[in-house]
Amino acid sequence: MENKIKLEIVTPYGLILSEEVDEVSTSGSEGDFGVLPGHVPFFTTLKIGMLSYKKGNATKYVFVNWGYAEIGPDRVMILADSAEKSEDIDVERAKAAMKRAEERLRKAEEFDFARATASLERAVARIQVAERRTI
Ligand code: ATP
Repeated sequence: MENKIKLEIVTPYGLILSEEVDEVSTSGSEGDFGVLPGHVPFFTTLKIGMLSYKKGNATKYVFVNWGYAEIGPDRVMILADSAEKSEDIDVERAKAAMKRAEERLRKAEEFDFARATASLERAVARIQVAERRTI
């Protein structure tokens, strides 16, 4: 479709989103970036964080857990480890995951620091994305 971007977010758990949108913004490993129709093709890895997209006057938010983004002039394809639309985030589950990760990080015997840190990062990002759902 002219002047639109086909945004698709795919995870091992299934297709999370497939929409014609006007603009996409997210956090690549090399920094935040925005995509408008006609963008030059590029490929990047993604961080744990938030993806937002504009459709008309509405801005929507999605939590994205790592992954890859393939950008073309009329297409943004995201392959992520997991992802949820802001309205699908279970905030209580994210708060419980945050508490578990914080407790693990507090314990001196915790040796899997990277795993606990990533879990904490996911939980915090999910809570932040869920807070955007009414905007
Ligand atoms: P938890 O410790 O709560 O399982 P996690 O970060 O380890 O969280 P993931 O491995 O990222 O979970 O995701 C596993 C599946 O559960 C995916 O389908 C993901 O979308 C879903 N999921 C995880 N946390 C939430 C949440 N707070 N709300 C909705 N879906 C979630």
